[in-house]
Amino acid sequence: MKRVYNFSAGPGVLPEAVLKDAASEMLDYQNNGMSVMEMSHRTPMFQKIIDDAQKDLRTLMNIPDNYKVLFLQGGASLQFSMIPMNLMKKGVADYIVTGAWAKKAAAEAKKFGKVNIIASSEDKMFSYIPDVSDLKISDDADYVHMCDNNTIYGTKFHHLPNTKGKVLVSDISSCILSEEIDVSKFGLLYAGAQKNIGPAGITVVIIREDLIREDMPVNTPTMLRYDIHASKGSMYNTPPTYGIYLCGKTFQWLLNLGGIKAINKINEEKAALLYDYLDQSKLFFGTVEKNSRSIMNVCFKTNDPELDAKFISNAKNYDIVNIKGHRSIGGMRASMYNAMPVDGIKALVDYMKIFEKENL
Ligand code: PMP
Repeated sequence: MKRVYNFSAGPGVLPEAVLKDAASEMLDYQNNGMSVMEMSHRTPMFQKIIDDAQKDLRTLMNIPDNYKVLFLQGGASLQFSMIPMNLMKKGVADYIVTGAWAKKAAAEAKKFGKVNIIASSEDKMFSYIPDVSDLKISDDADYVHMCDNNTIYGTKFHHLPNTKGKVLVSDISSCILSEEIDVSKFGLLYAGAQKNIGPAGITVVIIREDLIREDMPVNTPTMLRYDIHASKGSMYNTPPTYGIYLCGKTFQWLLNLGGIKAINKINEEKAALLYDYLDQSKLFFGTVEKNSRSIMNVCFKTNDPELDAKFISNAKNYDIVNIKGHRSIGGMRASMYNAMPVDGIKALVDYMKIFEKENL
């Protein structure tokens, strides 16, 4: 068996300890003679799995009691629709567009009401986070939407927008559990699991209780109502049981490691290794403004697309895979989620040094 350094943007690397643990329980989970995959979700054994997962996530993120935690399906993309469907009461929302995902979220919301783009960094290919300290918040906005970490471009908000009292909604798909976050500053947080938590197929939604409404239009599909999922404990229908079990294992792994503070310290260390090298390199350069840098997704290039292609192709000789940048911007992208070991970044920087020497 050989594991590689998988820099994929998602689905991404998972903790080896979690995978090994799950493998050891694959045929027989806790002496009940079957895998979690084969177990009814209406059993006390599965109820404990989902309850523990929720409890551990609450502990990790310090989620206040007046928030519901939901494990839903449909990816972060379905939240682009569910958020306006459920939260637009007056039919107006403000969107901050800092990347392709935020743009898609805004486009989807337009199907349900009036969307105002109150800030954007599209003028410079989403290579920075705009100043959000004094935005033109719409008087009648039901909420303000942001995407905290922009997976494709490698940017991250380092200050929350001043929403002037309006509810803040944030897509934290590619930064959830990577740094401490004050949940009480948000009305709703959501994240696809496939980067920092577990397998694809689960979306975590953290929603303040007063935003969950029951007076939805009668033609709203049942599966798209937060009130239904909240009242049924994320089990209105069959939930993605095995995925929830794996997410629970990752939460346990993080708790054992010392929680978010501890993993954030490691994440900062990993990011510093790569950014410090990039900042002094004569061949490679980072593609985003320094004060907008993400510690989860690091985008970089050389000045020559052919050299980039050579770098990407030769990376596998160093057990480095999925280092190619998103097709819309080219170059390289190293996604360094929680489960990427420090050794992975050291291997990447060592390879970059060799490549620089050979190609400068
Ligand atoms: N938001 C962000 C920040 C993402 O990175 C992605 C996917 N990589 C999405 C939304 C879309 O997620 P999904 O594929 O789960 O719908």
